[in-house]
Amino acid sequence: MLKLEDSYRHKGQRKELVKIIRQKGIKNEAVLDAINTLPRHFFFDSALDSHAYEDKAFPIGEGQTISQPYTVAFQTALLNIKPGDKVLEIGTGSGYQAAILHLLGAEVHTIEYQKKLFDRTKKFMAKLGINLHFYFGDGSKGIPEHAPYDKILVTAGAPVVPNSLLKQLKVGGILVIPVGDRKTQKMMKLTKITDTKIEQEEFDNFAFVPLLGMEGWK
Ligand code: SAM
Repeated sequence: MLKLEDSYRHKGQRKELVKIIRQKGIKNEAVLDAINTLPRHFFFDSALDSHAYEDKAFPIGEGQTISQPYTVAFQTALLNIKPGDKVLEIGTGSGYQAAILHLLGAEVHTIEYQKKLFDRTKKFMAKLGINLHFYFGDGSKGIPEHAPYDKILVTAGAPVVPNSLLKQLKVGGILVIPVGDRKTQKMMKLTKITDTKIEQEEFDNFAFVPLLGMEGWK
């Protein structure tokens, strides 16, 4: 059962969570604000909502997870979202990250590979009144029909940077993607300087579930 009440206790726990994320080094105030605003416990079964404000990833069914809040903040800060940015997120999962991007004023396109999660999250976000573009399928190839994008965010661990995603990025656009093996990945930020020049920056290690599909893990 989903519980859609945002109590003072939840609000207080959220403030504490933001404090922890700030202490871990996130400085982008707009991102911290969005995390403070969005009730993460809405994305949990009510029996488990005591875990919603721990800075941890959590199972959401189908062998998948809602990302750790710090990870959401880290990836979102790297994207440097501007209101109106057209963003493609690969790995809708619970919808929490997509909702954060929406709160920052992005036009969010999000794709999920697991049909059950896609159906559940699309329905739930409608209930929350959050209007996003939802797609079901293999996001490792991007969604060429709706390209180009200002920003692309991959929320699953990739073996390599998919070429299709770089192609679908606007010049000046940013791709944030964890790349590595099935267990640990390095966070990468790729900025498309020109059609042929990509600037690449590497950050800390993270542990994501694998990006499956044509340009992911087979
Ligand atoms: N962003 C999500 C959230 O806020 O809850 C967390 C995502 S979870 C760590 C990774 C998601 O990527 C899973 O839901 C998984 O099914 C999905 N995924 C894996 N490979 C995919 C692919 N090729 N295309 C789209 N989604 C994929």
